[in-house]
Amino acid sequence: MKNIIGVSKTKKKHHVAIIGGGFTGIAAAYELASKGIRVTVLEKEKEIGGLSSGFLLNGTPLEKFYHFWFTGDRHILNLAQELDIRDKITGSRGRTGIYYDGNIYRFSSPLDLLKFTPLNFLDRVKLGVQVLKSHVINSWEELDPVTIKEWFSRIGGDEIYRVVWSPLLEGKFGKFAPEISAAWLWNKFERRGKSRNGGGVEKYFYYEGGFPAFLDEVAAKIKKYGGEIRTGSPVISIEVEDGEVSSVRTQNDLIKTDAVIMTAALPIIANIVEPHVRSEYVESLRRIKFLANICLILELEKNLSDIFWLNINDPGYNFVGVIEHTNFISPEIYGGRHIVYLTKYLDETDRFYKMEDIEIKEIFISDLKKIFKDLRDEMILNSYVFRSRYAQPVAVRNYSKMIPSIRTPIKGLYISTMAQIYPEDRGTNSPVRDGRKVAREVISDLINGNKTSPLL
Ligand SMILES: Cc1cc2nc3c(=O)[nH]c(=O)nc-3n(C[C@H](O)[C@H](O)[C@H](O)COP(=O)(O)OP(=O)(O)OC[C@H]3O[C@@H](n4cnc5c(N)ncnc54)[C@H](O)[C@@H]3O)c2cc1C
Repeated sequence: MKNIIGVSKTKKKHHVAIIGGGFTGIAAAYELASKGIRVTVLEKEKEIGGLSSGFLLNGTPLEKFYHFWFTGDRHILNLAQELDIRDKITGSRGRTGIYYDGNIYRFSSPLDLLKFTPLNFLDRVKLGVQVLKSHVINSWEELDPVTIKEWFSRIGGDEIYRVVWSPLLEGKFGKFAPEISAAWLWNKFERRGKSRNGGGVEKYFYYEGGFPAFLDEVAAKIKKYGGEIRTGSPVISIEVEDGEVSSVRTQNDLIKTDAVIMTAALPIIANIVEPHVRSEYVESLRRIKFLANICLILELEKNLSDIFWLNINDPGYNFVGVIEHTNFISPEIYGGRHIVYLTKYLDETDRFYKMEDIEIKEIFISDLKKIFKDLRDEMILNSYVFRSRYAQPVAVRNYSKMIPSIRTPIKGLYISTMAQIYPEDRGTNSPVRDGRKVAREVISDLINGNKTSPLL
């Protein structure tokens, strides 16, 4: 079903099509529309939002996959300021913890680290020093070729890697875990460090009504500027004339454009451009691997613990994190229900990914009962399963060399995706930055009549 939110009434000289209505595509569209460029966002799904889209939980919007912002997410805050909705973003502390060898350990502050007995005292100090040292590393490039395993081995931290990082990386990146770049972890230390207050407690941010409500505000502004957002409009192909993109084809329409920004996952982009470019280029787009994600959301009558984010450092469990959303956001918003996400990253070929929802629920809940022994079936009021095929780009060593340029061999065709964000991990802050950046480049190229690519 095609749904058109807002149609341009003003006749504008240039027309830009955007493939994908996630944070990147919506941010790019906002930038273009606010600068007077005619823009059409084409989103495959029935609603915008991509990985940060939501659903109605008893009438209240909630993200399908847990979402929050860090204190340092300034591109989000700047955008909110521009839209005059900054006051709807509120912060709250969130405790983190680690489940290891049958016990839950708090892991929010330096004091928590000192009390983390699965490591001996010297290793706890070494881990603290490594985190602190990472704050003075200015250039992540030197860490790009180094794996996290090697990074910790250099400081005699093999045990730290085994207890803390290896299980988490396996949970997040599966078989790629030993190859993940230290630059990726360095950025996590940086970002999370900035989210801590003086006492070392992390503070996170959230939008009143959730991430989908935030995007709705941006979409409303795009519409106000005359932009168009078509949901339920998967792009099937592009048309290229004399090496320049001329139109975008959806199931129902052929849309003439002067430029196209592609924000869908790289493997999808590779399929779209394949008929028009050399095979080496297509292969380069397919080089970055992606993992899928499954989230089980539970509605509970009471909370499991007072920890917001619990890492499961035990590969024997079927999920890598227990995120108690309502230990961060008040349960009152959800009619007093407590909301918990259980998250699992996996290869799309994994048998688990294809399991029926009911099986996933049974397996996850059975694991959860091993951690929270008081949990009873009757305390689970409702549950929901969500899956995403392209959830996590795999940041192996030398990842920076695999990232495609925003320009492509086709004139007027640009790529801006979460996989080009590095060393930061995905997020929505960087997609806002990058979406707006690519839009500014497109505007500059359109104005200067310069649509040549350095790749040509
Ligand atoms: C489990 C999980 C937890 C996360 N937690 C957080 C968090 O706490 N905080 C945070 O900031 N970020 C978080 N993220 C990351 C964040 O959701 C993503 O980085 C961000 O949403 C990426 O936005 P995007 O627009 O680049 O990509 P996407 O959201 O993937 O958007 C791409 C869009 O393209 C569309 N599309 C695909 N093919 C086509 C086609 N052929 N035609 C038209 N449209 C197409 C898709 O439907 C999609 O809407 C999380 C992600 C996951 C998976």
